[in-house]
Order: sequence, then structure tokens, then C-alpha cells
Amino acid sequence: MPLKRRLAAIAGFRERVVASHDQLARTLTLEVGKPIRQSRNELNGLLPRLDFFLAGAARVLREEKVFADVKQSLEERISHEPLGVIANISAWNYPYFVGSNVFVPTLLAGNAVLYKPSEFATLTGRHIAELMHESGVPEDIFVAVYGGGAAGAALLRQAVDGVFFTGSYATGTKIGAAAGRRMVKVQLELGGKDPVYVCEDVAVSTAAASIADGAFYNTGQSCCSVERIYVHESIHAAFVEAFVGEVKGYRVGDPLDDQTYIGPITRRPQLDVLQKQVTDAKRRGATLLTGGHVIKRAGNWFEPTVLTDVDHRMSLMREESFGPVIGIQKVKDDSEAVLMMNDSEYGLTAGVYTPDETRARRILSRVRSGSVYWNCCDRVSPRLPWSGVGHSGIGLTLSTYGIQTFTRPKAWHLRGA
Ligand code: NAD
Repeated sequence: MPLKRRLAAIAGFRERVVASHDQLARTLTLEVGKPIRQSRNELNGLLPRLDFFLAGAARVLREEKVFADVKQSLEERISHEPLGVIANISAWNYPYFVGSNVFVPTLLAGNAVLYKPSEFATLTGRHIAELMHESGVPEDIFVAVYGGGAAGAALLRQAVDGVFFTGSYATGTKIGAAAGRRMVKVQLELGGKDPVYVCEDVAVSTAAASIADGAFYNTGQSCCSVERIYVHESIHAAFVEAFVGEVKGYRVGDPLDDQTYIGPITRRPQLDVLQKQVTDAKRRGATLLTGGHVIKRAGNWFEPTVLTDVDHRMSLMREESFGPVIGIQKVKDDSEAVLMMNDSEYGLTAGVYTPDETRARRILSRVRSGSVYWNCCDRVSPRLPWSGVGHSGIGLTLSTYGIQTFTRPKAWHLRGA
């Protein structure tokens, strides 16, 4: 299928997403418990990503002439060949985002996709497959495979030419090991323990509101949720007070209610992880400021929770929480903040809040992380590469690199007779 038709199919997919927006948002909320406004936000946020890929694909995929010597009648060119059949094993927490980051540029680059949505977002995966097929992507070019870990493992035993995975570090290691034996391209977008550092010169309440949103949006179940907060000691007390005030204002409840900000936890076992982190932190001397418990109602619910007097002996500050729980640690200066931010096996995103750009740049240039933020957090842009360091993964999606990554450069040495 020529690029023009591939582009038309993805443009058709975009139109269908817009036309079914409300139904798709409702399905997503019903199956993963995402508050309905946040499901709508996800679908709205999908559109600029599709637009970016639609606008950029032709330029990235165009064959390039990199050398020509008329005297020798020699030309050198690079073409961008599809990899072949791509296994796309996906997570449930942002199925439209993490899915489309892979399958859209994959299809535009001329590949076929075996798409395995998470077993917790099966209906969303099904909607995506139907909309793709209705938009003109052939049924044998975009094939959805439903099921859990066993279905994912079975995909890796097929003759695939690339494996693009989004999920946890624990599963990522299994995928990497299985794919490594096959000698095919592997990308792993994994978890995070993303830090934010708040300098003493910020407007405290504005910074607290922004960072609390970064920590608790999607009920804390984002790969780039803020998971650790370091605050300069001179404003620590004021920041903590403003932050807790913000968190106490969050509406917890029915995810289908427009006013709900915090919904249920999608996977039941995560409740145990959260409870253990809170218990461990308290045992080691942390102060619980709000929340800290499972909420007793049908489903999986955890109170929005804030702790301070935390340190890096605590699992709360080392292991991914992936829920509405956060620790706030005091630091004495920028050097200690950098040390703390880098003291993690993960490296997905990191942020600094200060009005001073030079200071922010100095700090962020020393932080080991795929993305860095100044006065913002929990943010993804289609124009920028999305990647991680250490246990946060290998490879990247988004940006023009995120189109190129689904291709193999072929070297053409052309000599006229
Ligand atoms: P998960 O690792 O439990 O599952 C991810 C996918 O892998 C699912 O489709 C699952 O069925 C499949 N799977 C499980 N075992 C498998 C196996 N042995 N072989 C093949 N496939 C297998 O993760 P999850 O709970 O769906 O997602 C949450 C995690 O994903 C968090 O750690 C989060 O930080 C991370 N995440 C990262 C990004 C990113 O861009 N870096 C984005 C979203 C989520």
C-alpha cells in the first residue's frame, strides 16, 4: 500500500475517533476506571499525536541522496525500509497514547502490526482495531490479539521482525530476554520513579497545585506521574501545607461522574503494593499527613496519600508506586537535590520548579533522565522523543525519531555504467 493510502487510512482513523469520542471515553472509563474527564482528555490528546505523525511521515520516510560524484558516476542513497511485522504489546493505563505511539508510525512506515492491548483494556483494544479496519487498514495488516501474559508470550514466538513493548520493568525484562534470542529490534517503554525538585524561590501554592496534579492525575497511574518530591528546606513547611490542602480537595468517587478526579485503582494487587509502601515508610519514621488506607467500598480504592519525613531507605522513595501515594523529602540545596533525583534505578522524567531558568537548566543538565521539565511535570509532547534511562527502558517513541525507529535504513551504492 503506497504511503498516500496509508496516510489516508490513519486520517480516516482520526475522523472515526472524533466521531465516536463519547462512546470510546465511556468504554475506557468502564474498563480501567479512569475518571471520565480524563478519558475524554486522553482521546482529545490523541488527536495532535495523530496530526504530528500524519504531517511528519512523508518527510521522515523520503529516500535521501547523501552523496553524488558526477566524475565517478557514483551516488549514495539511504532508503527507509519497513521492519516487517511488529509485535506491539501494550499497557492499560493510557491505551490510546501508548498504543498509538507505536502502531500509528509503524503502519505509516509500511509495517504490519500484531497488536496486543492489555487484558485490562481489551474492549478499547477492540474498538481501536475496528476503527482501523473501517478506515481502510487491511485486516491482515493490523491484527489485534486479545489476552494476558500468555498471549503476549505467544506473540514473541511468532516470526516477528520487531518487538515494541510498553509496561512494567518486571515484564520488560522477560520480553527483552525472549526477543533477544530472536535478534529482532526491541524497544521497552517501562516504569518510572519520577522526581520533582522545588526550589525556595517558587510561588508555593502554584507549584504545589501543579505538582499535586502531576502526582495524582489518572489516580497516580501514569508512567510519568510525579513519584518523589524534594523541597528546599526553607519552604518545606509552607509547601507541604499547600500540597496537602490541594490533595484534600480532590474528589474521589464514581469515575463516570464528571466531577471525579480520583478513581479506583485498576489492578487489585496494586492495593497491596501501596499499603506496604505506606506501612514501611511509617515504620522507618515517615509522617503520614493524609490518607494511607484502602477505602472500603466495591472495587479497588486507595485514599490519596501524602507522607513527609521520608528518605531513600523506604520503598516509597525507591519503587514505583503507580497509585495515589507520594512522599515529600526535605533537601538543603541544589546539589543534594540532584544527588537524590539521580539515586534511582529509573530515569523517565524529572522536573525542577524555580523562576530562574539558568538554575533550572544547570540542575536538569545533571539529571539522568529521558525527559526533563522546567516548571511543569507529567507532560508528553508528540514533537519530543519519549525515552527512558536505566530501568525505564530502551528505545523511544514520538518525535520524528519515533517514526524512523520503525524503519531500517538501507544503504544504496549506485555506480552508473
Ligand atoms: P504489565 O507489564 O503488567 O503488562 C504490560 C503488557 O505486557 C500487557 O499487555 C500484558 O498482558 C503483557 N504481558 C504480561 N506478561 C507478559 C509476558 N510474559 N510476555 C509477554 N507479554 C506479557 O504492565 P501494565 O500493568 O499493563 O502497565 C503498567 C506499567 O507500564 C507501569 O510500570 C508503567 O510505568 C508502565 N508504563 C510505561 C510507559 C512508558 O511510556 N514508559 C507508558 C505507560 C505505562
